[in-house]
Formats: sequence, structure tokens, C-alpha cells
Amino acid sequence: MTDLPHSADAVVVGGGILGAATARALARTGMKPLLLEARAFGGAVTGASLAAIGTHMHGIEEYPLLRHAGQLWSDLAEATGNPFEYNRQGKLCYILHPEDRAVGADWVAREQALGAEVALLTPEEAREREPLMTGPLIGATWAPDTATVNPFLGLRTVLRLAREAGATAVANTPVTALRIDGGRIAGVETSCGAVSAPHVVLTGGPWTARLAAMAGIVLPIRPRQAQCLASMRQPPGTIRRVISACERAGGVDSGYTQIQQAASGQVLFNTVTAPFDPPEGAQDHIHEVPPGFVLESIETLLMLFPSLAAQPLLRSWVRFEGVTPDSRFLAGSLPLPGLHVAAGDNGSGYCRALMLADHLVAAVTGAGGLPEDLAALAARFYAPMRFAQRDAA
Ligand SMILES: Cc1cc2nc3c(=O)[nH]c(=O)nc-3n(C[C@H](O)[C@H](O)[C@H](O)COP(=O)(O)OP(=O)(O)OC[C@H]3O[C@@H](n4cnc5c(N)ncnc54)[C@H](O)[C@@H]3O)c2cc1C
Repeated sequence: MTDLPHSADAVVVGGGILGAATARALARTGMKPLLLEARAFGGAVTGASLAAIGTHMHGIEEYPLLRHAGQLWSDLAEATGNPFEYNRQGKLCYILHPEDRAVGADWVAREQALGAEVALLTPEEAREREPLMTGPLIGATWAPDTATVNPFLGLRTVLRLAREAGATAVANTPVTALRIDGGRIAGVETSCGAVSAPHVVLTGGPWTARLAAMAGIVLPIRPRQAQCLASMRQPPGTIRRVISACERAGGVDSGYTQIQQAASGQVLFNTVTAPFDPPEGAQDHIHEVPPGFVLESIETLLMLFPSLAAQPLLRSWVRFEGVTPDSRFLAGSLPLPGLHVAAGDNGSGYCRALMLADHLVAAVTGAGGLPEDLAALAARFYAPMRFAQRDAA
């Protein structure tokens, strides 16, 4: 067990993939950050993730940032010998309705204009890439750059690298208060004692609004439920690609469906509800998604892959994802000197984690961070100040 230090150059609150990546990025600058996790590392949203890494249909304006984010994961896999099952299998977005074909064509044209290797496929071309997808397809979009990783192993790798670079990481240590002194952050209080630090970074996933409220800052992060189903192990190649929906409103912004096969052989299926306001404290519990919603999800899966109908489900789980009003991350400094944030999710936080962590380095240290052109873009899209307010009370 690691003892809690009394001081650190920065405290990172929340040991999911964003917290681990932030601790690593800060440690790589020579700082001695302390990462504090309330429960188990990766035990909240991160461990429940499908951890697809890619650019397709995730917001055209953010495309250069997402491409960089994907490259960072690919580089990490290469540099470490890929202990986290990085697999670049590509992504197919199925088209079931004639009006969605125009949506798919538009995404493909806009991404191609940015240099992406994407294509609009006929049903036959789609089935060449995904033979068991025999549902009523009228086409699909195709993005070869999408990969997946094992979310726990990815987290473990980043955490190991953070420690090797000089970070201390302590689990089972909830932060209970933020210390403020002379109008700036001065550290944190925890269930195991206080830690003084000139910088605190909030990476608390769906709990981040609650953490910010400890410093009198209001962040509009609302939860939505993500439902995941996992089948018994299937033969390798049952599902070859990351499968998603090509939807009218476009990609993850309108909620999403995602199907893929893990390296373990399990077929994973995921779909999300709209953001909602849960009763007080609800984020602390695993919630049941309404049964109708689950059945609808299963129907979509079986419509596309009827051969899976005979396969029993092994388990199902639900997690909250914290989303912002414009579905973009909050990453940067908050209106209290020394306090920073990286949170907001939107269903693709795993993919963005290494990129957002690099962006935060500049917020914390005033130097380094992303390459200049990307830093300007990240500052424009992810600035927490677009929503963060000091609580008038
Ligand atoms: C089913 C599902 C599928 C997904 N699929 C994808 C995908 O394919 N691709 C992708 O990029 N993203 C995906 N995501 C989203 C991605 O997993 C998340 O964006 C990412 O994992 C969020 O990481 P995080 O570190 O912000 O949050 P978390 O992993 O939730 O970490 C926050 C941590 O903060 C801790 N914490 C909270 N309060 C305190 C406190 N007071 N003190 C100390 N610690 C505290 C919590 O215990 C938690 O461990 C998916 C998510 C789900 C649920």
C-alpha cells in the first residue's frame, strides 16, 4: 500500500483513464503529481468502456485533434509492445434508411476533404468486410483507422508509465474537500489526511461537477446511461470491425450503438440513453436501464447479426457517462487559480484521454502540451470557461 504524501506538485482527482493519462503527462514534465482514486483504478466508466479509438463521425471540427489522439494510442502500443490489445480493425457504420444514406455520404465527403481514408460502401462491399452482418442494410460507411483497446489493460499501462515517470498513485482514497487559501487552490482533504498542492486537476468522470462544487464552481455535466451487453465467447472473426449506426443527427451526438468483438471472444454491444437529471446521489449507484430500452437494443443487434440469436448473454452492465451541453469536453483551467479540469465524456473519452492530458500540461505548467496548431484548436473547443461559473451563493 502506498502512503499518502503530505504534499505534491499537483493532485489529480479521479483514477480513470483521464486521471492516469494526466498524471503521466504531468510526470513527464518533471513534476511529482499525486493521483487519488476514491475506489479502484479504472473501476468506474473507464473499465466499462468499449474503448474504440478513431475519428469517424465524432465531430468534423475536432477531426485534427481526434486524429492526433488516435496516433498517440497507436504510438503507445508500438512503444510498449502493445500490452493492451490495441487492434486496428476499422469501423463500419450501417445504413438502414434511405435518408441516412445522404448523411453517410456527407460525413464521408467532409472527412475525405480533410484527408481521411473513409468510403461509402454498397451492402455487398460492407458484407465483404463483415460477413455475418446480414440485416437489411442499404449501405455503410467505412473508416479503416478505427482501433480498439482493452480498457483495463490500457489504463494499467498508462498508470504504470505514470509511476515510472515519477507520479504517485493511491487508490481507495476519496477526496472529500478542496483546500483554498488566499484566493487560489492549496490542495485537497481526503479520507486519509490532507495533501497540499499548488495545482489540482479534476478528472472525476460523471462526478466532476460534484468535485468542482467543492470549490464553489458550477459545471454543467449531466449523466446519461450507457448500457452494455456481453455475449459468451464467440469464435474469432464473428464480428471483425467496430460496428456503429449512421444516424441522421450524426454519430455519438445523437446517442449511439456500438458492436465489436473483444480479444477475449465476447461480442460487446453498447447503446446509450439521453442525458437526464438523476435523483440526488444516483450517480453513486449502478442503475437499471428501463427494460424496454434494453430489448430495443437487443433487437437492433439481432436485426444486424441474426446468427447471434442463439448465443446466450453472459452479462450486462450500465454506467453513467457525464456529458456537457455541447457534447464537448471541458479541459483546461477553471475560474480559481490552480484548479483545472478534464471531464465531460460524450462517449469517446477513452480515445481522447492521451491528447487531453497533453493539453492539460500547458494549462498546469504554462508550457509544453499539444503541438501549436492543435493547442489553439483544443483551447477553442474545450475551454472550461465556456460553461464554468463561480457559484453566486
Ligand atoms: C459502455 C461504454 C462504452 C464506451 N465506449 C467508448 C468508446 O468506444 N470509445 C471511447 O473513446 N470512449 C468510450 N466510452 C467513454 C469512455 O469510457 C469515457 O469517456 C472514459 O472512460 C472516461 O474516463 P474518466 O477518467 O473521465 O472517468 P472515470 O473512468 O469514471 O474516472 C473517474 C474516476 O474518478 C473517481 N472519483 C470520483 N469522485 C472522486 C473523489 N471525490 N475522490 C477521488 N476519486 C474520485 C471515480 O471513482 C472514477 O474512478 C464508453 C463509455 C461507456 C460507459
